[in-house]
Amino acid sequence: MTHKCEAIVVHCMDYRLQSYINQWLEKNLSFGSYDRAVIAGGVFDVYDVIRQVDISARLHGITKVILINHEDCGMYGTAGTEERHEEDLNNAEEKIRRLFPHLEVDTYYLNLNGTFEQNS
Ligand SMILES: [Zn+2]
Repeated sequence: MTHKCEAIVVHCMDYRLQSYINQWLEKNLSFGSYDRAVIAGGVFDVYDVIRQVDISARLHGITKVILINHEDCGMYGTAGTEERHEEDLNNAEEKIRRLFPHLEVDTYYLNLNGTFEQNS
């Protein structure tokens, strides 16, 4: 591994959120050193997410995974309740922890007004 970074950040492609995510990343990942996987629905398809995490871990030796789902996500449609997002984020976290025990996993729910909530 010739070059490394600290984390992979996985979030939805939705254009409404990109500037909020950019600002948040700048503030919270001051090292500015992360891979970024932009996937429609965030963790909606957990196997897409796992694939990206695996590549990031192998190529860039990350130690941390940041998963961000958001309010009013088009991939979820009317099924996208806060509870469903919490459930999907927890499920993705659990699967990633099982496959990559050395990685720290943080999950967030992003509201349309730009506020981030840490998922429990
Ligand atoms: Zn979305």
